[in-house]
Amino acid sequence: MRHSTAHVMAAAVCRLYDDVQLDIGPATENGFYYDFDLPHRLTPEDFPRIEEEMNRIISEKIPFERLEFTRAEAEAKLREMGQTFKLERLAEIPEGETITFYRCGEFMDLCRGPHLEHTGQIKSFTLLSVAGSYFHGLETNPMLQRLYATGFLHPKELRQYLAQLEEAKKRDHRKLGRELDLFSMHEEVGAGLIHWHPRGARVRSIIEDFWRQEHYRAGYELLYTPHIGQANLWETSGHLGFYNESMYAPMDIDGKEYYLKPMNCPFHIQIYKTHKRSYRELPIKWAELGTVYRYEKAGVLHGLLRVRGFTQDDAHIYCTPEQMEAEFKKIMKFAITIWKAFGFSNITAYLATRPEKAVGEVERWEQATNALRDALESEGVPYEVDPGGGAFYGPKIDLKVKDAIGREWQVSTFQFDFNLPDRFDMTYIGEDGQAHRPYMIHRALLGSIERFFGILVEHYAGAFPLWLAPEQARVLPLTEKQMAYAETVAEALRAAGFRVTVDQRQEKVGAKIRQAQLDKIPYMLVLGPREEEQGQAALRSRTAGDLGAFGLPDIIERLSREVDSKGLDAENN
Ligand SMILES: [Zn+2]
Ligand SMILES: [Zn+2]
Repeated sequence: MRHSTAHVMAAAVCRLYDDVQLDIGPATENGFYYDFDLPHRLTPEDFPRIEEEMNRIISEKIPFERLEFTRAEAEAKLREMGQTFKLERLAEIPEGETITFYRCGEFMDLCRGPHLEHTGQIKSFTLLSVAGSYFHGLETNPMLQRLYATGFLHPKELRQYLAQLEEAKKRDHRKLGRELDLFSMHEEVGAGLIHWHPRGARVRSIIEDFWRQEHYRAGYELLYTPHIGQANLWETSGHLGFYNESMYAPMDIDGKEYYLKPMNCPFHIQIYKTHKRSYRELPIKWAELGTVYRYEKAGVLHGLLRVRGFTQDDAHIYCTPEQMEAEFKKIMKFAITIWKAFGFSNITAYLATRPEKAVGEVERWEQATNALRDALESEGVPYEVDPGGGAFYGPKIDLKVKDAIGREWQVSTFQFDFNLPDRFDMTYIGEDGQAHRPYMIHRALLGSIERFFGILVEHYAGAFPLWLAPEQARVLPLTEKQMAYAETVAEALRAAGFRVTVDQRQEKVGAKIRQAQLDKIPYMLVLGPREEEQGQAALRSRTAGDLGAFGLPDIIERLSREVDSKGLDAENN
């Protein structure tokens, strides 16, 4: 229905404006878009007119007709229509594939379909925005106009979605990142490269400290590996073959080609291979906060969510076939614990199984797929199967979490690998004294620290829980007279391990409170003459307001408890 609505939108644009060049109009997860090139520059002011025309087309109940063409006929047709982008799209259709057009009244489009029977079946839609988008996402190509829209089966769903969008706009991590001084990107440096400001970096270091501590606790060891590696390494790993498009051009060092790493795996394997490994050592679980560089088209870069350089929270598990199932359950349990700590308890999964083209024996695939399924079932994680959706080298699980406003984010990936252990000839000596191939699992839990931080900012709308907040408390002296006492209070809290500042501005306390609220500081300690006299502070919470006056030990105890619980037993947001 969404894709049919995209055709209707394109038809309306063609009715209303001259010289429209069509590109594509796919349905997306939450809606659809259509890319056009036309002399008129579309703006939101044009939306009511386009929507009106769309409603007219819908009320006309025009049938969608499927037409099959030979390549020559299709080409002639597109030439006659003067559709140059479509001619390029036609050329991309592989030889031997059926070429179809869909006609809807006077509007005709090269399209795979399928479509509704007629336009009258469209239930609800709305235009959302317009943005520039390069043909094929390439900066060197012409810039088209992308019209975003959405539609739902029930008008009520559309209303809910629009409310969610409105809320998402307020939480946009790019906006909050600026307002809260968390991170930035710079044209001088390059697109998709993140600079962490002190406040963002502080949150990141807390995330990473927690991550390290939990990994050690779960029996992982941590690694550090280089950022570049020679071409022959990436040839052995196969990345230069199947991952080439995501890798940057090589650099020359002493006449040898080196590549920036797009993944950490080959380095971890080098470490594995420094010793002869015995079954007694397995499972080996190694994790790294490994910074990798991957090419992404300029058109898809998006704040922290799609970047060109990022730090993966990567881990590799090497185990025997017998250990695989138990290890997998541990991974799943571990993932759920970590996600819950960050405030995400609604977790679902996709299980991607063996594709047509695959390496590794079918029995190993089955065994691994069953282990994944068992882990999901024993942890009670609801999942859908994506048949044939696995990578060629092994089945995988993708975890999705739902955020505070109901959006789903694909986050963790647990990927079996039947390929790399072979390519690098990895072995361990089994109980039988013979060399065996270990099983290898790639596991990214948070995904990348950058993207995770972006999700976290939006989930909490920038109002981090106490344990993560870059500034946990702010001391607000009522007047100049309490300044010295304010410093004493701040010092006492800092000595107890809290991140605290003093608002030293000569402002009314009301203004200081407002500022602290804007800065999303979890706690404020207001100090007047009475508080100073009694060695107390009036405690204010960002969410609950005035909590009353307390002595410092009580405040420290209260805040410590909240940090320890990660705010999970308190009412948050
Ligand atoms: Zn279509
Ligand atoms: Zn890996």
